[in-house]
Amino acid sequence: MSIFRVVFTFSIFCASAAVAQINESTSLAEIEFSQLSQRDLNPLGEIALSIQPEQWKHGETDHFIYHFVHSYVATPVSVEAEFHYRIIAKELEREQPRGDIKSHIYIFEDPAQWQQFQAFGKLEPWTGGIHSQGSLFIQRNPKYKFANNVLGHEIVHLVVHRFYSEGVPCWLNEGLAQYISKAATASYQRARGYIAKPHSDAIPAHDLIPLSALTTMTCPPNDRVATFYDESERLVRFLASSDKPAFLSLLDALGRHQPFEVALTRAYPGRFSNGALLEEKFREYAAKDFGTTLQQVSDL
Ligand SMILES: [Zn+2]
Repeated sequence: MSIFRVVFTFSIFCASAAVAQINESTSLAEIEFSQLSQRDLNPLGEIALSIQPEQWKHGETDHFIYHFVHSYVATPVSVEAEFHYRIIAKELEREQPRGDIKSHIYIFEDPAQWQQFQAFGKLEPWTGGIHSQGSLFIQRNPKYKFANNVLGHEIVHLVVHRFYSEGVPCWLNEGLAQYISKAATASYQRARGYIAKPHSDAIPAHDLIPLSALTTMTCPPNDRVATFYDESERLVRFLASSDKPAFLSLLDALGRHQPFEVALTRAYPGRFSNGALLEEKFREYAAKDFGTTLQQVSDL
């Protein structure tokens, strides 16, 4: 059994454990705004709630506070949010103390209101959601059931922000969001009777962004958005599967804003003694197609 497979199996085991703890049949309870346990200090939250203020209802779960229009739209969001929280907390081996800060999630339904709100925030090119200072703003159409990892991806960002509130580099944030949400979403769907497999495409060597550039970008490059997300996911997957404890210490160092190569050589002293060595091994890894392995793992 490869290290990669062990890591992936671990994710799916965690996902299965989390499924047992959620109950989708209970609708999210509505709570008066004044009774919410915490306030959102993000000015974007105030702007969101000022758009047709009388429509907003509120609710909360262990780690999130929701602002929504209809509870039947917010309930599945709350189930998926807590599900992903447990997956990422286990993967990153982190846990917030009881009573710690909760992330706020604003769920728009009306397309015109969402368009109006977009003027105030920067849309993530991958998901169309807006993530700002630990709060998430999304639009959900009640008629359309999400079948991919878009919401999971954004939830991973929220949880990473809770654990690393000073921020992590863009490639790491996006790579983690794709890596964890793909595995978790496939597991979540399988638990509900859907046939789903995590999917990761091979990236030909000539398409790769050099790691020295990828690891210093502060946002996805407009002309290479898809490559940026795919490559970032592959890099996270590669580093995590090579040595999980080393990956967690790399994450901590990057969360303290150390330069990538310095943090890398400290975290993986025997394996990657410099950036060029990582680049060489990663190029081989990125070009592999993992379809077969993922299928085997997903069938466990
Ligand atoms: Zn993202």
